[in-house]
Amino acid sequence: MKKLLLALLPCLTLAQQTPISVGKLRQHITFLASDDLRGRGTGTDDERRAAAYIAEEFQLAGLLPKGDNGTYFQTFLTKTKNGNLTPPAGANNVVGYLDNGAKRTLVIGAHYDHLGMGLQDGSLEPNPQGKLHNGADDNASGVAGVLELARHFATNQIAEKHNLLFICFSGEELGLNGSRYFANNPTVGFEAIDAMLNMDMIGRFEPAKGLTIGGLATSPVWNKIVTDATTATGVRFRADSTGTGGSDHTSFYVKNLPVLFFFTGVHTDYHKTSDDIDKINFEGEAKILGLVADIIKRTGEVNEKIQFRQYTDPHAATNVRMSFKVTMGLLLDYSFDGPGIKVDGVVASRPAQAAGIQAGDTVVKLGNYPLENVRGYMEALGKFEKGQTVDAQILRDGKLISKPVTF
Ligand SMILES: [Zn+2]
Repeated sequence: MKKLLLALLPCLTLAQQTPISVGKLRQHITFLASDDLRGRGTGTDDERRAAAYIAEEFQLAGLLPKGDNGTYFQTFLTKTKNGNLTPPAGANNVVGYLDNGAKRTLVIGAHYDHLGMGLQDGSLEPNPQGKLHNGADDNASGVAGVLELARHFATNQIAEKHNLLFICFSGEELGLNGSRYFANNPTVGFEAIDAMLNMDMIGRFEPAKGLTIGGLATSPVWNKIVTDATTATGVRFRADSTGTGGSDHTSFYVKNLPVLFFFTGVHTDYHKTSDDIDKINFEGEAKILGLVADIIKRTGEVNEKIQFRQYTDPHAATNVRMSFKVTMGLLLDYSFDGPGIKVDGVVASRPAQAAGIQAGDTVVKLGNYPLENVRGYMEALGKFEKGQTVDAQILRDGKLISKPVTF
């Protein structure tokens, strides 16, 4: 009998763990990024259907509702930039809670809204109106990540050392509106929140390129935890220190909370109708989620409040929100250290493409302005006028070439 029990033990331990399921990731992204959901535009009925799906999955996993009035939904009012689509019924964050009886809580989030039918701004298509923007990577991938982590942690037999608050935000594409609303109107005691982990675009993992992890300098504990967890799970990563950027973790960082941001990088389908499920790397995403789960566990082993550290990288591009008279239509590799800016892709029918700039190019000078990094590039762009032609100096295959760019 004793022998039998011992033999059974490893199986029991495995059964308690609820591994991340590639099949489940595929199921979630298939639904969320289907043509039928019409791109989950903020405040639309399509987005409401996505919200209902997320709430149902939270319920299946056994999470407690932590939205308004005992529901999973936290409703807020938001406007689109062009004012056309103000949804009178508001938009919804979807909030589920895993109560582990702990003193402190971690927030695990991802936005589930996207650009809908191209009517609400933000599309990089030349004529986006009426076109499906399925947003498989941005950000059905992150939502699938939240749902799988919720199932993973809620259905194991282990009480983690944090309570886990899972939130799928709306209104991100309109300017982080849902996460800002939650941070200003938290449905749990905000002082109990230790940190926020955000997943936005985690569906295009390329192991050789690595995962970008942002927010590393926002707590003194992150470096060791992330180094240990990436070593343990064999995920290569690129560090980005700053706690701000174009996604929802920023809303928590500005409230003095440590954040981590997981991101597989920009690509030529970014904010275009071609961001579809056929390009998702499900196995890669599962590996990333294994890493995030490991980071959550290691964070629980810190036996005190996770200390916050202010850090806004003066050179980080993602926190620069300026207004320009001109744009290039470049997709940038934000993890490139410089000098220069590294081009990840070019947008069709925009000045960079017309000038013959290609993915893989490093632009080192624009007009009279040498480009040290993305911030320098942003500053240079602010100096040009529509219709002006300037020389771009480009490093391509180790050679310096020059291309005239007309804005
Ligand atoms: Zn996004």
